[in-house]
Amino acid sequence: MPIRVLPSELIDQIAAGEVIERPASVIKELIENSLDAGAHRVEVDVERGGVELLRVRDDGCGIPEEELPVAIRRHATSKIATLDDLAAIGTLGFRGEALPSIGSVSHLRVISRPRGAARAAEIAVDAGAVSAVRPAAHPPGTTVEVRDLFFNIPARRKFVRSAATETGHIARLLERLALSRPEVSFRLRSGARVLFDAPLPTRQPAGEERLAQVLGKELIPSLIPIEHASGPVELSGWIGLPTASRAQPDQQFWFVNGRSVRDKLLASAVRLGYRDVLYHGRHAAHVLYLSLDPRLVDVNAHPAKLEVRFRDGHQIHEFIFRAIERALAATRPQASATPAANAQAMLADFAPGSAPPGGEPQRWPGQRSEPGHGMAWGSAAWPLRVSGSGALAQTVSEPAPAAYAPLGVPLAQLHGIYILAQSEDGLILVDMHAAHERVLYEKLKAERGTGPAASQLLLEPIVVNVKPHELDAVLEDAGAWERAGFEIDAVGPTALALRRVPALLAGERITAIVQSVIEDLAREDGLHHLEATADRFLGTLACRTAIHAHRRLTLPEMDALLRQMEATDRANQCNHGRPTWARLTLGELDQLFLRGR
Ligand code: ADP
Ligand code: MG
Repeated sequence: MPIRVLPSELIDQIAAGEVIERPASVIKELIENSLDAGAHRVEVDVERGGVELLRVRDDGCGIPEEELPVAIRRHATSKIATLDDLAAIGTLGFRGEALPSIGSVSHLRVISRPRGAARAAEIAVDAGAVSAVRPAAHPPGTTVEVRDLFFNIPARRKFVRSAATETGHIARLLERLALSRPEVSFRLRSGARVLFDAPLPTRQPAGEERLAQVLGKELIPSLIPIEHASGPVELSGWIGLPTASRAQPDQQFWFVNGRSVRDKLLASAVRLGYRDVLYHGRHAAHVLYLSLDPRLVDVNAHPAKLEVRFRDGHQIHEFIFRAIERALAATRPQASATPAANAQAMLADFAPGSAPPGGEPQRWPGQRSEPGHGMAWGSAAWPLRVSGSGALAQTVSEPAPAAYAPLGVPLAQLHGIYILAQSEDGLILVDMHAAHERVLYEKLKAERGTGPAASQLLLEPIVVNVKPHELDAVLEDAGAWERAGFEIDAVGPTALALRRVPALLAGERITAIVQSVIEDLAREDGLHHLEATADRFLGTLACRTAIHAHRRLTLPEMDALLRQMEATDRANQCNHGRPTWARLTLGELDQLFLRGR
């Protein structure tokens, strides 16, 4: 075949292949146009999963009648004009490809009336063929209608799934867009059914109300608000409590300058921020907004603009992971002092002495404010005491309610696993091993800051067998091992000699511990972070060294552990993200016993 310039219709269809993968991609392009036009209200209608009809209506700035024929032309945009503009994009669109691409694979109609114009006008494109501009009736704003998507591209049409699947994609897209702009109302209808409705939030700031509209208000108590700025870079939003982690990464949202993105660097920064408090394979929810000078981020990295490139990726990574780490440090038992007014409600679930989580403040009415409430339960038949252990009863000294520490006064040990304590408003249960593991781990990390870990020279080196690539990885990280108190060297392509080990490890199953640390490190997906590596050692050490089940603790020992927990960052969960303690309030106990108050 000779070399030829492609007909313009085919060029549009090729462009459509990149950005218009399925009905939801059309909706994405159309809503982005509405948002760029400053719309406050966006209404979407679909029929049969969007294949039959997709319609987006907005109350934005509109398109002047004489510009309608330009708007549907390839590489025609009102959003950038120069190379400088391209380097600092503040709009969602800029490529000028959406309308012509959509028009080349469907029957497209654009009806618009600019604000202040006396009348509306419309233009139609049928599989690339453009109609004349005609007068039309329309309120200020724009409606774009797409019928019979892919009717002329059978190969594409075949990849479109069932109406339910495609509608599902569209609904999830609307959730993301609604989270990206709390100050805009969104509604999605399929036929006559409203599938998604996010009206304008009535309270300010709008973010939290929108969050509840989209993800449900039950989620809110398990989120920690985050707000962090460094120079021109700002991070805000919510991150999930580690103890509320999920098996699926289905509630993770990132917005960069108002654009929903899925970005590896951002995801990795979050993972690193959670490294101490989340088990491998678990996913914490997050809704995070990053805002920065558009010059510092290139959004022209992907035709559908789902990925971004940061000018200084390393710095952004560090900034985000530190911010998350700091927010998570506050997850420890607290009486009242919480980082922010908002955080107070969020942490209430974990903070005896403060109000119950925002969602259902009246669950146990009157419970807290009741005068003499301490007395009431002080003389009540405390289930543990009537169960017959006189020894328990003697050892409890009940402080006045105000004097209770968050985790209360220890009462007893249960089956050698749990510590039971009496707190201001009920019963505290502590997982002894998990709690001690966290306390030790944080102590080890703090000590590391003050110098090399205490270590012990071995009379006889211990040889650990590893795989060649594992050995390389270990040697690359030799510094981290040394700081943790090891002295290591390779004694063959697959053998590692340990000459000195951390004092904490002496007498433990060193080989097994070292092997599990190495395996863990090998599993890290590409992202190399020295601090994370070093922490991994300490985490494993702490786990191996923490008190094990069935060890008898005296009351003063239990008390010491509770007090240490209260003073330890991240103490609400063990290194793997399991909760270290739980609370049964008197209200909950009353419910259990059908006891009216
Ligand atoms: P881009 O968004 O990249 O500029 P599009 O093909 O999506 O390219 O749209 C072309 C132009 O049409 C836009 O630049 C904008 O000026 C105009 N336009 C499209 N949709 C709307 C809308 N809903 N409201 C106002 N103007 C619009
Ligand atoms: Mg566009």
